Parts: sequence; structure tokens; C-alpha cells
Amino acid sequence: MAAFKTLDDAELAGKRVLCRVDLNVPMTAGAVSDDTRIRAVAPTIAEIADKGGRVILLAHFGRPKGQPNPDMSLEPVVAAVTEVLGRPVGFTPATIGETAKAAVDAMKDGEIVLLENTRFHAGEEKNDPELVAAIAELGDLYVDDAFSASHRAHASTEGLAHRLPAYAGRAMQKEIESLESALAHPERPVVAVIGGAKVSSKIDVLENLTGKVDALVIGGGMANTFLLAKGVLIGRSLAEPDLVETARRIMAAADKAGCEIVLPVDAVVAVGLEPGIDSQVVDIDAVPDDQMILDIGPKSIATVESWINRARTLVWNGPLGAFEVPPFDAATVAVARHAADRTQTAGLNSVAGGGETVAALHHAGAAERFGSISTAGGAFLEWLEGKALPGVEVLRRDR
Ligand code: ADP
Ligand code: MG
Repeated sequence: MAAFKTLDDAELAGKRVLCRVDLNVPMTAGAVSDDTRIRAVAPTIAEIADKGGRVILLAHFGRPKGQPNPDMSLEPVVAAVTEVLGRPVGFTPATIGETAKAAVDAMKDGEIVLLENTRFHAGEEKNDPELVAAIAELGDLYVDDAFSASHRAHASTEGLAHRLPAYAGRAMQKEIESLESALAHPERPVVAVIGGAKVSSKIDVLENLTGKVDALVIGGGMANTFLLAKGVLIGRSLAEPDLVETARRIMAAADKAGCEIVLPVDAVVAVGLEPGIDSQVVDIDAVPDDQMILDIGPKSIATVESWINRARTLVWNGPLGAFEVPPFDAATVAVARHAADRTQTAGLNSVAGGGETVAALHHAGAAERFGSISTAGGAFLEWLEGKALPGVEVLRRDR
């Protein structure tokens, strides 16, 4: 039996189902410009409705800081939700109180209504019991499908689960299952690839992973600080000299835990980060003083790929180079395609996440062939840090 309650455990017919979703979508000129998040939660909404539940959608939008703010109303999102679902979705300009109650009372089985932005109430981010009680009055059950908001203990992401029978929606279930398969009980060897600009944003991720994975590949700008810690001259590369000690500590912890740290052995360098600038490949001990490392080089790519060939599980966060500016996307693209191929042909369990990482995998044309991709930036990183996510913990059966 799964460790979490899911829609399979819920009796939905005729029930008022409060369903927390992530509708914090990008808007341009009053219309949704990217409906990825809506498509992610659509199966859950459709399943509840098809099973005869009355779907009452809860979501936040922007940062209204506990005050009603017409610029952050969820109303403009309704059209896109309707379109993705291919069925009518109602909207109510209230989250709680008489107006919300009347809208919910008028619902029939299988209908869908979106309530106004939960963050219009100060109690949302404070997880205030009074707000929780006021929302709970509107429903019989609670389904959480917003993994991306699960690292925050808010009224609509955590509080409600203490008040009502609580279940993971399908998107939440998928996120939890893929992350657990990658770190909680993975098939070994497990290889983690961590890149991105700075060590400082990922110290906790690196520390947690050294105790969990068999090899930790460090690329991107953050590798420069590790190279510095090993006495390598890195020219004008982006680095954080004040974190050299931290890098040493992480390497020592990895050594103790039997985790292999894999650093670049060569690099693509240039005098600056500009499109079309002259670049060259150098060995890592030959970075010119006046140049900066902007990608890992071909020998390093081959090393990373050979680690991926040995792996049964791959966790990836952070691009290996400054991928937004070609040709410094070469390593990220090559490794992404290689990992996607191994996923398809060798049964590699590949799990990736992070804002720029997801963009890079799409850029490489590798996203569709990955095992799973998390679009939940903050929650995904906190999971990699080994932190308990309140919105996930509260859905556990043995809580
Ligand atoms: P994610 O959003 O996937 O967690 P990060 O935000 O940590 O990733 O890092 C992504 C950024 O790191 C990208 O914008 C990329 O340009 C930058 N980056 C990667 N390698 C380098 C490098 N060698 N020098 C400068 N910036 C780099
Ligand atoms: Mg980022």
C-alpha cells in the first residue's frame, strides 16, 4: 500500500471536494501565456468531476500579501482552465464567506468552480486556524495537487489536511513517487548532476546528496568554486572565493560517505559571455588569466556520460554551462540527450527539476524523453536538500 492517500482511496461521488492546485501561471496582456501548470492538474480535476465529485478549486496567484488586489484576481485564468479541461469552470469572487458558500451550495455533482485567490487573506500564509476553518466549511474532502506549493505550510496547502480527509491528487502523487524513486529508495548506482551558477544557492543540496548518491557530478559556474578549492587557476570565471572552505567540507563529507565527486577536467573558455564570441577548449589546468569558464569541455562531457551509463538512477538540477548563450549550451545539450537516450533504451530512471534546468532540457529536445521533470522550483530544491515538505508530510497515511 502506498505511503500516501491518493484519489484511489477517496469516496468522491456527491462530495464537495476542495482541490488545491497551482494556477500561478504566467500572464501576458491579460491572457495565460503558458498553460503547463494547468495541464499538470487537469487530470485530477477531470477525475474528481467524472467520479461525481463537486470540484472546488483553491489556488494562489502572485503575492497580494494578504489583501484583496484586483490585479491578482484568478478570474482571468478561468478561460484557460476551461479550455484545457474542455468543460465549463465557474468562478466566484470570494474564497470564503457567504458568497463562496452560495456558489458551492449551487453546485451539482461533476461541476467545477474556482474560488478567488487564497492569498487575498492574511491567514493563508500564516496557516491561521480561523481561515482554515472557514475554507473547510465549504468542503467534505481535501485533495492537494499543488506539489510546487508543498514546501510552505499555508492554510490551503497544509492546514486543511488537518481538518478534512486529505488525499494527494494525481500530479502530486506523480511528483512524490518520482522523487521517492530517485532518492528515498532508488535503484543503484545513483548519479546526481548538479550545475547552475552558484554554490551558495545549493549548499544544502550538495551536502544532502553526498550522503545519498554514489557519484556527484558538479558542473556549471558552481564547479569553479570547487576547482578553486583544489588550487586550480580559473582566470576570470564566476566563483565564490568565500565558499572555498564550504566546498572543501563538501568534498571531505563525500569522501567519507564513499560518494565520488566528479569535477570538470576541461572547459570551454572565452573573454566574456556574449553570443558569437570567440571561444576555445582548454584543459582545466590551462585556463588563461583573462578568460572565463562558460561550459565544461568534451573530455568532461565524456566522463559525465560514462557515469550516466553506469547509473540506474539520475537526478539532475542545474545546467552544466551558460546554456542561454550558444555555443556554451553544448555540454548541457549533449548530456541531456545522452540521459534521455539512456532513459529510453536502458531503463535509466531520470528525474530532473529546476527553473533553468527545465528550460535547458526543452532547449535540448530531451524533456519528453526524461523519466520525470519537476516544474516545482522551490519545492523540488527543498526535497533535494532532504527537507520534509509540510504539504507532503501531512498526506502520509501514518501521520
Ligand atoms: P536551476 O534554475 O535549474 O535550479 P540555477 O538557477 O542554479 O539552475 O542556474 C542556472 C544558471 O546558471 C543559468 O542561467 C546558467 O547560465 C548559469 N551558469 C551555468 N554555468 C555557468 C558558468 N560556467 N558561468 C556562468 N553562469 C553559468
Ligand atoms: Mg534558477
